[in-house]
Amino acid sequence: MSTMKFCRECNNILYPKEDREQKILLYACRNCDHQEVADNNCVYRNEVHHSAGERTQILQDVAADPTLPRTKSVICANCKHGEAVFFQATARGEEGMTLFFVCCNPNCGHRWRD
Ligand SMILES: [Zn+2]
Ligand SMILES: [Zn+2]
Repeated sequence: MSTMKFCRECNNILYPKEDREQKILLYACRNCDHQEVADNNCVYRNEVHHSAGERTQILQDVAADPTLPRTKSVICANCKHGEAVFFQATARGEEGMTLFFVCCNPNCGHRWRD
């Protein structure tokens, strides 16, 4: 679901635009110089969709990466496996680092965050 936004200066459609320096989403008019900060991240989230197969491949790569630390102090909520790879990353559209866990069971690949 997306909501159309219109320029308050000239009434043309505003297009979503990522400000990479400030890491915020803007709506920009292509007719005049008007820009405004988006008040939600819906458009941003729509851009990060992967196909199911693609996502599974990424998860398996992470779980097989020998350079990543492992922990046995967690239990996978999906398959009850007791070992997971963990790494810190910044979630899309969020600020700050988040701890992610990926189940080491090659048939599972369940990923969750702290
Ligand atoms: Zn405009
Ligand atoms: Zn699992």
